[in-house]
Amino acid sequence: MKKKHILSTIVVGMSFMPYANQAMQITDDGTIPEYTSSPITIHIEGAKTDLPLQPQIQLDGVKSTKEPVLPEIEILKFEYTLDNLLQMLEGAKEMHISQARDEVTIEFEGQPLEAIIAGTDSMGDYVVLKGITPQNIDVLHKDNLQVKIFDYYVETSKSWTNFKGDYINQIDIENKSYGTEITLNLLEGIDYALEERYGSLFVRIGLETDKPVEQPEQSSTEIKFDTASNTLTLPSYMQIHNITDNYREREIIIDLGGYYPNIEDVIEVNNSYINNIQIVNEQTTKIVINENIICTYILTNNGQDTQLKFVRPQEKYDKIVMIDTGHGGSDPGAVANNLMEKEVNTMQAMAIKEFIEQYTDIKVYMTREEDVYLSLLDRTSLSNEIQADLFISIHNNAATTATATGTEIYYYPNETNTAGKTLAQNMVNRITSYTGMHNRGAKAETKYVVLKTSGMPAILLEGGFLTNASDAQRLGTDDFTKVYALAVYESIVEFFNMR
Ligand SMILES: [Zn+2]
Repeated sequence: MKKKHILSTIVVGMSFMPYANQAMQITDDGTIPEYTSSPITIHIEGAKTDLPLQPQIQLDGVKSTKEPVLPEIEILKFEYTLDNLLQMLEGAKEMHISQARDEVTIEFEGQPLEAIIAGTDSMGDYVVLKGITPQNIDVLHKDNLQVKIFDYYVETSKSWTNFKGDYINQIDIENKSYGTEITLNLLEGIDYALEERYGSLFVRIGLETDKPVEQPEQSSTEIKFDTASNTLTLPSYMQIHNITDNYREREIIIDLGGYYPNIEDVIEVNNSYINNIQIVNEQTTKIVINENIICTYILTNNGQDTQLKFVRPQEKYDKIVMIDTGHGGSDPGAVANNLMEKEVNTMQAMAIKEFIEQYTDIKVYMTREEDVYLSLLDRTSLSNEIQADLFISIHNNAATTATATGTEIYYYPNETNTAGKTLAQNMVNRITSYTGMHNRGAKAETKYVVLKTSGMPAILLEGGFLTNASDAQRLGTDDFTKVYALAVYESIVEFFNMR
């Protein structure tokens, strides 16, 4: 059983998670996300259990990129809390996680009323009668809320008499001849609501009469989009499971993890950033942002609603590199010595991307990550649309003679801006020093389309010659790729530091 996975997904599936979640705030100012939580008090089987008031949040391992890292954060956030809860849920026999990772089932042994969980959160008190539904019970409401259950609850030895919430004075549990009777002694004039959640009876206590249960007034209840600020607001009951930025498709997909069949299916926007927003109900509900121009997003949460503000990449990132993976699809590039250039290029480009993403806050965009064909102008227009600060085209070489060998880097000669030339020189020196490849130098070139049509400093790398047996032997290996990528990555960092 992989505990970490279960804990991360329990957020959306389990009956007690809404309270824990409610006590949490995620803020993201566009740099490093911050996480705070309010105290959570949980009672299990009558005993108050201390949960960490401020669960330690490990930011180690979370990339310091500006990309929101919600899935990771959910893991980090809930790991501790859930671990405790599970320990406390005595009689829990087995946990199952659904394939879609959106539902968790906990099986208990024995009694129909498997556990009693009570506590206080920001909305008031709550009691969860695990394993029974509103149909299983008789409710008598005079001054107290009395619940009769026609089965025995064996854990009455664990006393609830010491429980005191904001609105509950005491919880009495008695085994009678017909079954079990649970009485919640409430403060005078306090209303309650019963509902079924995840196969349990959920009792919410502390509502003022006539107010809806799940919709506090300050929280919105539907997805909204503000055209002026390009901000999407999700109501508090929706969780974001995952966000995918398909910038090459000019779409951003927000996977809600859960299924919300009743929400509007298209929001027409038609401004300069966003074309429209579609709600797609598949196994889970997804919000698809169709862009008119490549955008990214800034994620915030005010404790109630989650907001995504769509901005241009340059508004969010101050260092952007476009890595252009040469050739692809029907265009293999050079082919020799059992190597295809498009594949070698992909290995190198992905390795460079990994270094940058792991160790820096430089935002990486890629012209391609899959084996697909792109024209030369597709590549530079993508980079120009994003307004990248640097364009790096990854290639490898071929020659008619098998003796040609080594690394060379091309730049576009620019009288006023020599950044590309400096980068090409530094990079080729670093690569050849790290790898031991023959240094063919940095070369000015005005004819290469990707250099000519780039609106930013642009260089084109020729890592080595596929047509040279010795170069080819190295180009296909992970060891060479790693050292090569390290040298390129360090030179890119140096470029941004020198700006
Ligand atoms: Zn090439």
